[in-house]
This record gives sequence, C-alpha cells and structure tokens, in this order.
Amino acid sequence: MGSGQVTSSVPSGPSEFQGKHVTVAGLGVSGLPAAKALHARGAIVTAVNDGDDARAREQAAELEALGITVRLGDGATLPEGTELIVTAPGWQPGKPLFRAAEEAGVPVWGDVELAWRLRGPDAAPWLAVTGTNGKTTTVQMLASILKAAGLRTAAVGNIGVSLLDAVLGDEQYDVLAVELSSYQLHWAPSLRAYSGAVLNLAPDHLDWHGSMDAYAADKGRIYEGNQVACVYNVADPRTEDLVREADVEEGCRAVGFTLQTPAVSQLGVVDGILVDRAFVENRQKNAQELAEVSDVDPPAPHNIANALAAAALARSFGVPAQAVRDGLRAFKPDAHRIAHVADLDGVAYVDDSKATNTHAAEASLAAYEPIVWIAGGLAKGAEFDELVANSAKRLRGVVLIGADRALIREALARHAPEVPVVDLDRTDTGAMLQAVTEAKRLAQAGDTVLLAPACASMDMFTNYNQRGDAFAAAVRELGA
Ligand code: ADP
Repeated sequence: MGSGQVTSSVPSGPSEFQGKHVTVAGLGVSGLPAAKALHARGAIVTAVNDGDDARAREQAAELEALGITVRLGDGATLPEGTELIVTAPGWQPGKPLFRAAEEAGVPVWGDVELAWRLRGPDAAPWLAVTGTNGKTTTVQMLASILKAAGLRTAAVGNIGVSLLDAVLGDEQYDVLAVELSSYQLHWAPSLRAYSGAVLNLAPDHLDWHGSMDAYAADKGRIYEGNQVACVYNVADPRTEDLVREADVEEGCRAVGFTLQTPAVSQLGVVDGILVDRAFVENRQKNAQELAEVSDVDPPAPHNIANALAAAALARSFGVPAQAVRDGLRAFKPDAHRIAHVADLDGVAYVDDSKATNTHAAEASLAAYEPIVWIAGGLAKGAEFDELVANSAKRLRGVVLIGADRALIREALARHAPEVPVVDLDRTDTGAMLQAVTEAKRLAQAGDTVLLAPACASMDMFTNYNQRGDAFAAAVRELGA
C-alpha cells in the first residue's frame, strides 16, 4: 500500500508562526480551531467577524480568555500589521478585507491550507474528493473501503470533521479521506494530495466564484501536485480537461471512471460488475473485478459512479480488490440522500432532500420511472429547462412547493405540457403534508414519489435535513 509519507517543498512547523501577526477571518467551525492552533504556535492572532450575535460573542469570549484579540461586527478592515490572513472558506474573494490584503501583499489561506501546513512530517497522505455533487457520499465510501483494508482512516474536511482537528488531534491515521469544497480549494494554494478526484462539474455557487471557469479552476486545484492518480469522470470531459491543465508529480496517472465498459486506465462497469483496468498488472489485457453493482447502496447510476471514484482513489493507494467490495457493502448512505422512506399501496417514497441543485436532482430523477416529483424551494439563480426536458418522459406528475416554484412550473409548461402539475401556494409547516398527499393522489402502483427539490430549502425549512424529515413524517402520517 501507499508509503504513508508525503513530501512537500512548503515549509511547515511551529517556528513558521512564532511572533507572526495573523488575522483569522470568520469565527465558527473553522475559525475557532484555527485561531487556537495559531495562538498555540506563537502567532499574535486577531480574529475578525462580520456578525456580532450571541454565538459570536460566546466564541469571542473563549478566544479572549486565551489572550486573542477579537473584533466583532467588523470583518472588512484589515487589522494593522497583518502578515497573514486565515479565512473561513465561505468568505467571498471579492470582500474588502481581501482587496486590502492584496494591496498590502498579505497572503490569504483557508482552513485547509493551514491544516496542510501544520501537519507533521509523518502525516497521513490525503486522498481528496471534490465535485458539484456526490462528495460526501464518495468520501464516506472511500473511508469505508480504506477501513475494510485495515487502514486507520477517517472521512474529514467539508463533512463535519475539520481537517485541523484531524491533523492536530491525537488520533494516528494511515491515510485520510478528504472532502473539499470549491471554496476550500480556492484558499488552499499549496495543497498536494496523494491522489485527487473531481466527480462532476455543473454550475453551482457561481455568485461566489464569479464564473463557471473560475469555479472549474478552483475545483481543478485538487489535482495540483498529485502523486499517484488524478481521477476524472469520463462522462464529464471538463473534469479530464482539468487533469490536463494540472501540474502533477512525475509518474502520476490520469485515471477515468465510467458507467460503460472501461478503456485502459479506467474503472467501469461490465455486465453488472465494477471492474478496474487501471491498477492491474498488464492493463492492456487484464481487468480486475472489484464488486457488483448490487453491492452499492443505492445502486442508482450516479451512485455507481461515486463508488467507482472511491474505488479508484483507494486502488491508487494500493488497496486490494476484496477491500473495495467489503467497504462498499459496509457503506450506508447518510440521511436524505435517496433514502427509501416507505412503500404505500405499491408506491415507493424516496427522500432525496439533499438534491439542492438541478444537477443532483437530474441524477436522482434518472434513477426511477415513473415518478411523481416533489420539487421547489430557493432556486439560487438556477434554470430548470435542461433538467425538465431531460426528465419529462419519466414524470407521472409534479407537486411544486416553495418560493421559486414558478420557475419550475414555467419549464414544465415548455417541455412537459402534458404532465399534471399541482402548485402549492403555501409555505407553512403543513405544506409538506399537503404536498405528499397530492403526490399520493397522482401516483399509481409501481411509481416512485421522489422528493428531489433541485432547490435550497431555507425558504420553508431550516435546512435540507428538516425538509427531508418533514417529508418522511408526512409519508408516515399518510401510511398510519
Ligand atoms: P455533496 O457532498 O457533493 O453535496 P452528497 O453525497 O451529499 O454530495 O450528495 C448530494 C446529492 O447529490 C444527493 O442527494 C444526490 O441527489 C446527488 N448526487 C450524489 N452523487 C451524485 C453524482 N455523482 N452526480 C450527480 N448527483 C449526485
């Protein structure tokens, strides 16, 4: 298996920060541990935060008790003498603080960059995953496969466990399965993963990045300096373009994954079997069976793609085929990601509340037929024509909820005028029960009622979890 060593030309270690004036931008999940870690290494830390609410004050008190200066309600001004900014990943590059930093020649790092620099000399290598959709699932599959191979690992990054905690904690790892968002990659200039994967690319967060090209370029940073494999999606040629543009270590290979029969240097599917033609002896002639499609839960096409990407990263680290199968079998998807809630009168009810953009919703709609689709919410500037046109033939009916439902209704009128649509003009807590009731009325035995909103949830719910829970509760109520 992999050497467990990562080489890097970037200087790291405690002395780098001694006496250095560092501004931590943004309290919260990443800011707090960043400020503490820098302070512990001798940096003179000032933490700045836009908000000044109760939570921020609580965090400020915690930092001030350590002797760290905190400025609440002022995230725009560059504190005097700042030599480095460590920012929360979500802070937009166009913010005045960063313009001031640029003028002053002050570098800006994110939490991932800081973690990368602070990791010890024997630190575990990173197998890194990004993409518009499927990151969390893929990283969890990857961690499950690595564990099945007997490796000490964890799924970390943009997934609840901060990289700083993983890198600085007492736990010893052989390898880390790292989920990285486009924001985190933007602020991580010196990151060099052992192997990296871009799962797919669809327009998302464009208001933050400024353009599709800028978004793709930030995603593509995951390939920079890869040592063994740059894993790309054969069905999404832009991901392969990003591999071509990356500067990688000598001998690092481009490895594709595909739902079709794999070419040489690819992983793919043959007769319901996941096969590897990349990490095998004599790959011109040989292929290695890894697992069966039915080993993947759920066996929806996009999820098979996630499994192949996870397998490619694991195989790049030398994991045996048997561990890929065992790891995929042991994997259970997180809640609200194509979760089967119940069957009522021969109709399946599926919660994919996490499908918060059109690309995710299209993948989930492609997995079922016929579908009664529950959709709508906050569109975040998205357009629905392509999604609706590509999915129209699968739709038995549609129930629309949420603030921007008119956008989906208009797309349906253009591309699926014959499909019955129920438009719910209410946003109170009872709306989901009515939506599911309407969906049940439209559905016939053998259909799937699918919550795949293609929109964010915050117009009606706290988050996608609450939206999915409301759906499941409504299904249970109708079944009682
Ligand atoms: P992320 O961490 O990138 O948000 P998740 O694994 O949490 O990804 O999945 C989010 C949603 O995206 C899922 O609910 C599903 O609808 C969709 N999805 C998952 N994998 C893919 C994929 N490979 N391609 C397209 N959509 C996907």
